Amino acid sequence: MAKIHGSVYLLVGLLVSFLSWKLNYEKLMFFFYIGLIFVFIGVIKLITGLMKKKNNEVDAHKKHGKMPQAHRQVKYCHQCGSALSPHHRFCSRCGARI
Ligand SMILES: [Zn+2]
Repeated sequence: MAKIHGSVYLLVGLLVSFLSWKLNYEKLMFFFYIGLIFVFIGVIKLITGLMKKKNNEVDAHKKHGKMPQAHRQVKYCHQCGSALSPHHRFCSRCGARI
């Protein structure tokens, strides 16, 4: 689906329904309701957009907190628990064999 901002739907809907109401409500009733539907879609889009934004922010925070070393493979020393790169044979802190 094309990315159209919710406020665009809202404005177009308001315009269409307002114009059809102003010009000839009886004849353009169909357009009036189309406009209302557009307004409705716009409102929904704006609300869901806001919610998504919040969720994304939360996700970003979670990711930051969970893995500080990006997604590189990391081994942990079973002696002292320090993080080591996988190509290390011995722990760089306590010297234990990995
Ligand atoms: Zn160690």
